[in-house]
Amino acid sequence: ADWITEFVTATEEGRSEAPASGRHADRFGGQLVLVTGAGSGIGRATALAFAEAGARVVVVDRDTEAAGRTVELARLIGARNAWAETVDVADEPAMEKLAAKVAAEYGVVDVLVNNAGIGLSGSFFDTTPEDWRKVLDVNLWGVIHGCRLFGRQMAERGQGGHIVNTASAAAFQPSRALPAYGTSKAAVLMLSECLRAELAEQGIGVTAVCPGLVNTGITSTAHFAGVGADEEKRRQQRASRLYGLRNYPPEKVADAVLDAVVRNRAVVPVTPEARGAHLLSRVAPGM
Ligand code: NAD
Repeated sequence: ADWITEFVTATEEGRSEAPASGRHADRFGGQLVLVTGAGSGIGRATALAFAEAGARVVVVDRDTEAAGRTVELARLIGARNAWAETVDVADEPAMEKLAAKVAAEYGVVDVLVNNAGIGLSGSFFDTTPEDWRKVLDVNLWGVIHGCRLFGRQMAERGQGGHIVNTASAAAFQPSRALPAYGTSKAAVLMLSECLRAELAEQGIGVTAVCPGLVNTGITSTAHFAGVGADEEKRRQQRASRLYGLRNYPPEKVADAVLDAVVRNRAVVPVTPEARGAHLLSRVAPGM
């Protein structure tokens, strides 16, 4: 992301203090925040925004190097307490180990951001059972594991907390190009709303953040650029023309995540076209 690149360059050359001083002030001072898929894109921007807001941050990604880089960036913006953990969120035993380790070493997580996800495009009949399993394993089961393991710790501690699950505008915007991805995200949206109802009396908030098109690695992967993605591309071009948002930055999603935690919001469509699609799905469902 631009501000990170500019900041790192400036800092490494010794020309700058912390970026965007006070963008998040000390809103999360001392809180423990765990972000999955934090080695890149939205997850990285979110982990850095929490670090900037004074939180202690656990950066989880299946890519060790990427997670390490996020921690380096957090240190550069002055966060002393940021740690990287290499875990595949779809791997239940590995997630169990992570939950036990985090509790033992850092304490109970105050804010959990289940953000790790993979893109997959292709028509229904182009999508193999193996593809379905892959996308549901990461995008849905990864979120389920996170909510079960860390949510239970939060509930047992009895001091509240917050869970943010990254869904997508694809959760309420049907697309012929994204049946598996959209299904995984619609499931994350419903899971979040059910869990929100269940955890409310324990003071634990649950948010489904639903970004539209954001400028990250996932939107340029082979999956989204691959066969069957034509309609998706057309849709994105239409959205870009309508809303002029070719380059929606991940930092804005990160800001929306922090804001959703502070305000305890339920469903947060981020980006103008996601807000439009969300509204439309309520006014004219099934269109
Ligand atoms: P990204 O590819 O830049 O980042 C995803 C990160 O998750 C990567 O660092 C990757 O290594 C990690 N990851 C993937 N699978 C993992 C696994 N099994 N275990 C642990 N880590 C894993 O993509 P992004 O755009 O930042 O995506 C973040 C989330 O936002 C995803 O859930 C995605 O579906 C969602 N989203 C993105 C957009 C968009 O336009 N970029 C729109 C809506 C929703």
